Amino acid sequence: MIKPEAVAAGHVGKIIDMILANGFRIHAMRYTRLSHHEAGTFYAVHKERPFYGELVDYMASGPIFAAILEKDNAVEDFRKLIGATDPAQAEEGTIRKRFAESKAKNAVHGSDSDANAAIEGAYFFSTRECY
Ligand code: ATP
Ligand code: MG
Repeated sequence: MIKPEAVAAGHVGKIIDMILANGFRIHAMRYTRLSHHEAGTFYAVHKERPFYGELVDYMASGPIFAAILEKDNAVEDFRKLIGATDPAQAEEGTIRKRFAESKAKNAVHGSDSDANAAIEGAYFFSTRECY
């Protein structure tokens, strides 16, 4: 996902360029907005964390780009490309180093396992939207 503040700031094109330049193929993509309830479900693993309320408010605050990306070793390679959660700790050349505003508003989301990538992909896209 490209998160709300990065969409609002006009970074979508540059972020997609970086993703494609790093060998990912777009399998599905959509411009949409999560309701408060949907954002809460999406990040339910963090329900007990102190930042959960802030995270859900933020993820529902504006439209996002959702995508399924394809590549060998995609989960690990995408997390490498996006960089550390906190942009202050993200390496040079990563998406978060370049575009994240803060640890909370950090520009992009990446799935953390193949299993979660499958669940998250199916949450946004039907089979006929995937190519
Ligand atoms: P994502 O799941 O969005 O790809 P991540 O896997 O790098 O990010 P997680 O630990 O899964 O990091 O946290 C999910 C999201 O919650 C972060 O991307 C960030 O937006 C927010 N977040 C994480 N830690 C904090 C924090 N300490 N304070 C505020 N927001 C936070
Ligand atoms: Mg995560």
